[in-house]
Amino acid sequence: MAVNRTFSIIKPDATRRNLTGAVTKMLEDAGLRVVASKRIHMTRDQAEGFYAVHKERPFYNDLCTFMTSGPVVVQVLEGEDAVKLNRDVMGATNPADAAEGTIRKSYAESIEANSVHGSDSDENAAIEIAFFFKPEEIVG
Ligand code: UDP
Repeated sequence: MAVNRTFSIIKPDATRRNLTGAVTKMLEDAGLRVVASKRIHMTRDQAEGFYAVHKERPFYNDLCTFMTSGPVVVQVLEGEDAVKLNRDVMGATNPADAAEGTIRKSYAESIEANSVHGSDSDENAAIEIAFFFKPEEIVG
């Protein structure tokens, strides 16, 4: 299995509860390495652009409001089969369905305020990384 990269966001519900370290530890314990990280407050334009794929979904407007409601930590994670590894440690979108030991089972508040984002494919990982990071900000 190849070492590759994925994109992660620690969402506003988690930064608000001071869980940046706790979430990052779960990512690291799963075998992922943080090769870029910054705390930002997303603008409405950024949130709408990032989630443009969900534009027609009923939750889109509320999701953009939530994602701009406080700081987030955007990260690039590196590891073996990083996209799948990260999705596994995140757990299901709805914390009610998330497996024991996952980040969302441990920390998510709701299907919306579910503590973390993670890319769902290598192709989207590359797009999402480029949305928030310049190449020189990523140090492997
Ligand atoms: N979301 C929501 N309501 C829903 C489904 C999703 O608010 O019914 C939010 C939630 O924060 C989720 C994000 O939209 O993480 C993106 O949804 P997606 O289906 O891509 O889930 P993910 O890949 O994050 O598990």
